[in-house]
Amino acid sequence: MSDTLESVGGAVGEVSGAAWTARYSRAVMDTFGPPQRVLVRGEGAYVWDADGRRYLDLLAGIAVNALGHAHPTLTAAISAQLGTLGHVSNFFGTPTQIALAERLLALAGAPDGSRVFLTNSGTEAVEAAFKMARRNRGDDGSRTRVLALGGGFHGRSMGALALTAKAAYREPFEPLPGGVEHVPFGDTAALDEAFSPAAVAARGGVAALVVEPVQGEAGVRPLPPGYLAHARELTSRAGALLVLDEVQTGVGRTGSWFAFQQPEIGGGVLPDVVTVAKGLGGGFPVGAAIAFGHRAATLLGRGQHGTTFGGNPVASAAALATLGVIERDELLAHVRATGDLLRREIEAAGNPLVSGVRGRGLLLAVQLTRPVAPQVAAAALDAGFIVNAVAPDAIRLAPPLILTADQSRDAARFFATVTVPEAPEPESSEET
Ligand code: PMP
Repeated sequence: MSDTLESVGGAVGEVSGAAWTARYSRAVMDTFGPPQRVLVRGEGAYVWDADGRRYLDLLAGIAVNALGHAHPTLTAAISAQLGTLGHVSNFFGTPTQIALAERLLALAGAPDGSRVFLTNSGTEAVEAAFKMARRNRGDDGSRTRVLALGGGFHGRSMGALALTAKAAYREPFEPLPGGVEHVPFGDTAALDEAFSPAAVAARGGVAALVVEPVQGEAGVRPLPPGYLAHARELTSRAGALLVLDEVQTGVGRTGSWFAFQQPEIGGGVLPDVVTVAKGLGGGFPVGAAIAFGHRAATLLGRGQHGTTFGGNPVASAAALATLGVIERDELLAHVRATGDLLRREIEAAGNPLVSGVRGRGLLLAVQLTRPVAPQVAAAALDAGFIVNAVAPDAIRLAPPLILTADQSRDAARFFATVTVPEAPEPESSEET
């Protein structure tokens, strides 16, 4: 038998979408519910399902496939690294791992002494940041609280879940790691209270404040201007870490390498820790916690954290290739222009179901006038567009950064014409 995919068990065969869905529901844990479609192939901003239907991918694996699907540069970089050195333990270094860490520090504008911890996912990057926060207790051990924001999403492992605000995600898994407090989103007075001498005397000092510059899962909500600058002042004064979770917003998604680098969002501040993942590997699982400056970088010292796969040379090569293409093809400017176009075209269409578009770059939410986002997402799929109902009344768009102007107009045409019938009036139960 020749050494083909078939002979080593990788073959999937010719199966219809319905048959795949049935197999999925027998073999894959029901965590995500039934798949909307079973996808078999992608190219650029398009994917194809098992029945041969094509979709414009306006979600990109939830802000992941920065270069779209099957990008030749990414494919070549991954193949070349896999054919050279596929994995080594973290007892050793590799050129791609080292180059990626250097590149992330340079792109983040991190000062001398900064260091990177490489992970396989956003959640793991957040866990590393959480552990740094725990280590930032201060000489007298008094910094015991970690603050996060209402609506915030940081992952589903126990530490990351403790930072995540949503009760429905948290409650089945309590008790979660303690010492985490949620502060109302975007409310500077509430933040002042959390750092106030009275709060510190009653509840302990603050070790870290963890925030998303633009909340993703909460419905694409940018922080109000000035918030991060204020947060920087409070955290610096308290000796607390300012941790920016850029898992969703990082790596070009909002039109800059990191969202905090946009003056309207970051106000010129430098954080202590930035977490990234999603778009970093262009679809390959890779993430990072970037620690800014010597103090943050030494919180997780020798022997205090670990991972088998983090820093894997193939994942690192994927990330280097993704960053390289974003730079070579000037995708940051492209994201800003395409995001503006998409937003303008959708708003200009004047569909009474759409009240506006918010977000930055190519992380956008289409605000609906009625809570019919699941129906709109289903209609999109039927029309050949992949979008996400991020809230009952909001659709999230996070397309590949390579989305073209024509593809943006195609998407806008969908939002110009989509309708969802009004729910029929409930039948009168009055007895006659
Ligand atoms: N942080 C943020 C801001 C996220 O949006 C996500 C994923 N939606 C995570 C963390 C968790 O990342 P992952 O799913 O890669 O573990």
